[in-house]
Amino acid sequence: MLEVEDLRVYFDVFEGEARVLDSVSLHVDEGETVALVGETGCGKSVTIKTILRILPMPPGRIVSGHIMYKGRDLLAMSEEELHALRGREIAFIPQEPMSSLNPVFTVEEQFTELIRWQGRYRVSWLERLAKSFDGAGKRAAWERALSLLEKMNIPDPVRVMRSYPVELSGGMSQRVLIAMALAGNPSLLIADEPGTALDVTTQEQILQLLKQRVETEKLAVLYITHNLGVAREMTRRIYVMYAGHIVEEAPTVELFREPRHPYTQGLIASIPKLTGGEVMGIEGRIPDYVDPPSGCRFHPRCEHVMDVCREIRPKLVPIGPGHRVACHLYEAEGSN
Ligand code: SF4
Repeated sequence: MLEVEDLRVYFDVFEGEARVLDSVSLHVDEGETVALVGETGCGKSVTIKTILRILPMPPGRIVSGHIMYKGRDLLAMSEEELHALRGREIAFIPQEPMSSLNPVFTVEEQFTELIRWQGRYRVSWLERLAKSFDGAGKRAAWERALSLLEKMNIPDPVRVMRSYPVELSGGMSQRVLIAMALAGNPSLLIADEPGTALDVTTQEQILQLLKQRVETEKLAVLYITHNLGVAREMTRRIYVMYAGHIVEEAPTVELFREPRHPYTQGLIASIPKLTGGEVMGIEGRIPDYVDPPSGCRFHPRCEHVMDVCREIRPKLVPIGPGHRVACHLYEAEGSN
């Protein structure tokens, strides 16, 4: 359904050229739930903003690559074609529920406008005026919005419809945003750390609701998260990203059973356990993208580093069914 191939995105910054995404390839099949995980600053949000074509350019620049959605090249589409696709075919759930709704309009105004004009790039004043007298259309949009809010288990949807965003809790705003994302009956949902800005109990409720909706509607989902626990609960396959490179790809169960890349191993070791015990972090931080480390970008933080790692970038090689890893430790295994 979605295929990203050899995507390179650079930023022109004061210090020079920041090579943020450096040959990223990933895919999401129909009805599949996939996570893209990694530390903050590893390039996850740039990846999805590029897929959705909402990355500010400049300073961003797509240097190479293809983004295909159902066989159509998103990078070759006009703004008008993208508008027709975004929201309808591909929906997006943003990270910050409290700042993603417009504070000066009620939920009703925002939601019914979205339903009535979704997919349109430009609307003339004449058309707007004509539609403002269309009572039946307004009523249908109101009913559709209300039923979508009800499906998100919102206890008093009429009150929520008449509220301004400031009158809603973070959890309620997040539910409204998910309902809005599903308004166009999309086939692919891109979710950018949904619920991370909320307390853990509300986040869990939101994720469970989202999971239910995804299963009922048989949606394909690309979750962006730094939280491996969320990725484990919500998805069937995981891509691990480090400093603009995909370093490991595996079915979720397999990745947690046997993580192979030293970075993935470090991420999993840094998850606090209910049984207690020492939590191991990864020393160091994401590198500078203007002058990234040569060879394997993880080498300054890797305890298994070898000479070759400083010189040659490792390729993603298959090491098992659906399992690929980019690390010189496994190159011999991958070539077998
Ligand atoms: Fe570590 Fe080398 Fe593997 Fe990179 S390629 S993760 S530095 S062992």
